[in-house]
Amino acid sequence: RKAAFAALRDVPPETKDGHRVTLMINAGLRDDVGALDITGADGIGLFRTEFQFLVSATLPQRERQQRLYREVLETAGDRPVVFRTIDIGGDKALPYLKLEGGTEENPAMGWRALRLSLERDGLMKVQARALLEAGAGRTLNVMFPMVSEAWEFDEAKALFEAQRDWLSSRGKRAPNEVRYGAMLEVPALAEQLDLLLPAVDFLSIGTNDLTQFLFAADRANPKLAERYDWLSSSILRFLRRVAAAAREQGVPVAVCGEMGGRPLEALALIGIGIDRLSITPAAVGPVKAMIRSLDRAAVTAALDTLLEKPPRDMRGALEGWAAANGI
Ligand code: PEP
Ligand code: MG
Repeated sequence: RKAAFAALRDVPPETKDGHRVTLMINAGLRDDVGALDITGADGIGLFRTEFQFLVSATLPQRERQQRLYREVLETAGDRPVVFRTIDIGGDKALPYLKLEGGTEENPAMGWRALRLSLERDGLMKVQARALLEAGAGRTLNVMFPMVSEAWEFDEAKALFEAQRDWLSSRGKRAPNEVRYGAMLEVPALAEQLDLLLPAVDFLSIGTNDLTQFLFAADRANPKLAERYDWLSSSILRFLRRVAAAAREQGVPVAVCGEMGGRPLEALALIGIGIDRLSITPAAVGPVKAMIRSLDRAAVTAALDTLLEKPPRDMRGALEGWAAANGI
């Protein structure tokens, strides 16, 4: 099967009825980027920049950040890379960075990611400069983690734009274009799509965090992982609603959580109207094989019916549908 997946490297992730899905990979370290060539993926849909901070013994200075970003962009070539600004704090503590707040009882819901970046904006200013300089002469894609309200996105974008103005006022090279996106992983943000969508260039749904917040179920507790299924109708209905709102505004929307890397989950995502996935590199082959055996019109109709009156065992129902349809 491995060889069969490798043989799919150069064929497009296209459904039987000719719908092209965008398949990207998640990465975090320089060595991960080689997976682009191995898998034949369309780009990097999520580059977790905090990895460099987490594996580092000291705070990575601007030059070190910039070197990493430049190397990633050079390896990616024409393929897009979406850099996510640091998602640290909470349980991803950095020994060399003293943060006020102390130990949190619920770090996943704590002072982390963009919440921390907006307050400790010195960190994000340095990262913005590093990214803008590394992206000189090309299109730079930036996204912000754990956006909870639309104004947080606006503030983060303004911080980047101020750095960009500074660079151009000094006559320094900058990206030709900067595209800004928000991660949707806090459910509350879904109630502000009317404010958010006109402001963003793209949306990326982080289903790992989103699921734990929707179900109030810790993503790190295996006992709960068995109980709360990514294929639950609540999650699928939620995602379908977000995807439809984004489509109406012409905003591209991707799923970058682990959910998209499982063939049956990816099938359901395509069925509810999501056609951009960013997944773990090892999943590209299996998901592509599934896509190439899928009829998009048929799976859309199947999901419409199933979500109308959801069966208790949605996974079982989808497995049955897939088997009956030769997937
Ligand atoms: C997510 O929450 O789904 C996500 C992609 O981000 P992370 O797993 O890094 O929290
Ligand atoms: Mg997340």
